[in-house]
Amino acid sequence: MNELSCKLLVIGAGPGGYTCAIRAGQLGIDTIVVDAQKPGGTCLNVGCIPSKALIHAAGEYETIARAAENSPLGISTAKPSLDFARTIAWKDSIVRRLNSGVAGLLKKAGVRLAAGYARFRDGKTIEVETQSGRQVIHAATVVIATGSAPVALPLLPFGSRVISSTEALALTEIPNKLVVVGGGYIGLELGTAFAKMGSTVTVIEAAPRILPQYDGDLSEPIARRLGALGVTVLTGAKATALVADGTALAIETASGEQTSLEADRILVTVGREPATNGFGLENLDLDMDGPFIRIDDRCRTSMHGIFAIGDVTGEPMLAHRAMAQGEMVAEIVAGHRRAWDRVSIPAICFTDPEIVTVGLSPSEAAGKAFEIKTDLFPFKANGRALTLEREDGFIRTVARADNHLLLGIQGVGAGIAELSAAFSLALEMGARLEDIAMTIHAHPTQSEALHEAALKSLGHAIHI
Ligand code: FAD
Repeated sequence: MNELSCKLLVIGAGPGGYTCAIRAGQLGIDTIVVDAQKPGGTCLNVGCIPSKALIHAAGEYETIARAAENSPLGISTAKPSLDFARTIAWKDSIVRRLNSGVAGLLKKAGVRLAAGYARFRDGKTIEVETQSGRQVIHAATVVIATGSAPVALPLLPFGSRVISSTEALALTEIPNKLVVVGGGYIGLELGTAFAKMGSTVTVIEAAPRILPQYDGDLSEPIARRLGALGVTVLTGAKATALVADGTALAIETASGEQTSLEADRILVTVGREPATNGFGLENLDLDMDGPFIRIDDRCRTSMHGIFAIGDVTGEPMLAHRAMAQGEMVAEIVAGHRRAWDRVSIPAICFTDPEIVTVGLSPSEAAGKAFEIKTDLFPFKANGRALTLEREDGFIRTVARADNHLLLGIQGVGAGIAELSAAFSLALEMGARLEDIAMTIHAHPTQSEALHEAALKSLGHAIHI
C-alpha cells in the first residue's frame, strides 16, 4: 500500500475544494486534493457550466425561431433546425476545456491531485481507492468539500425515465414530453431550456407558486414567460405515482383531482442533499447541523484540524459561496486572520428572465427591529430594456429607513445576471441609497433601473 503525507488534504475538487487547494498551493502549503471524478465538481461537470451552456443554446434557438415566425424587428429567416448532438458536443467541449483548466491551475499551484474515492480512517488518515490500488494519506489538516447530490423522491426513484439534473444534462435526444417535478431554480432553468428546444413541458410544484424561496413578485415574470413558451405550470400539485411502466406520472392537482401526465422523461428537481455518507464520517466525531456538517465562522468543524466548506455545510448551496469559503480556509491554514464576514452572497436564477438577489428581501427585512424603505423601478420605463424587447421585470432596493443603509437589492429581468456584481459591491461596501443615487450610471443600460430605484426611495426618481 502506497503511503503519502501532506500538510493539507482536501476531499473533493469542486469549486470549494479546488479553490481551497489552489490558494493553499499559492501560499506554499504542501497540498493534496482528492476527487473520484474529473476536477470541477458538480458545478463544472453536471451543474452550473453545462446547464448554462444548454440554456444559452436553447435561448439562441428560440430567438431565431421567434424571428422566423414574426419579428417586429423586421428580421425574417427560415424556420431553424437544431442538431442536438452538436449542441451536446459543444456543451461537453466547454466542460472538458474547463476540466483541464482546473487541473492546470492545480498543477501550477504545486498541488498534487489524487484521482480516487477518499475514506476517513481517522481524523488525520485518509484512504483513497485509486485505479492503481489503495493509497493512504496522512494529513495535518483536512478539508471536507464533498458537495451535494440530487434528492430522490421515494415514489419516483431515479432510473429509466425518471432522471435528475445530472442525466438531464447528458440527454442525447430532446424529450417530446418532459414533466419537471419541482419548480425551484434547477427545474425551471432546465425546463425552460427544453421548452425552448421543442419539448412539451409541464412543471409540477407542490407550493402555491413556482420559486417559493423568492418573494412572489420576483417569480411573476418567470411564470408569464413560461406561459408564453407554452409550459404548463401546475402549482399546489403533487406527484403521487409512476404509472404505465413509467410512461406517465399520476398527480393530484391543487383542487384534489387525480389525473396523469404522459412523459418521455420525468425530471425530479426537488432539492439537493449534502454528500456526507459513504466516506467514513461515522468514524469521526463531527457535530452535525441537521443533514449538514456544522461549521463556525472560520469553517472549522467540531474536530480540531478538520474544516468543511461548500454544499456539505448548508445553504445557500452555491458555487461562489463554496469558492469563497475555500479561499478563506486556505488562508486560515496558512496562519492568516480570516473569518466569514460576507454581508451578502448573491444568488442568481438563470431562468428567463433572470432573477438576481443579494442581501435581504422586503419580507426578510420586515421582521427586523428597524423600519425599512423599499422601492422598485420597472424595466418597462427603462430605455435599454425596451431596445432589447424585454421590458418585464424590475430592480428593487431595500434600505433602512433611518440611515438609508442598503440591506438588499433584488431584480428580475432579461440578462441581468451580470448586474449581480454591482448589487454585491454595494452591499459589501456598506453603500447607502445616496451612494447609488450619486453614482453616474451609463445610459442606456439596464443598470439605470438600480439608480432610479434608489432615487425613488429618496423621493426624486427622474424617469417614472
Ligand atoms: P461539488 O461541486 O459538489 O464538488 C464535490 C466534489 O467532491 C465532487 O467532484 C465529488 O466527486 C467529490 N467527492 C465527494 N465525495 C468524495 C469522496 N469521498 N472522495 C473523493 N471525492 C469526493 N451554483 C451556482 O452558484 N450557480 C449556478 O448557476 C448553479 N447552477 C447549478 C445547476 C445545476 C443543474 C446544479 C445541480 C447545481 C448548480 N449550482 C449552481 C450549485 C453548484 O453546482 C454547487 O453549489 C457547487 O458545485 C458546490 O461546490 P462544492 O465544492 O461544495 O461541491
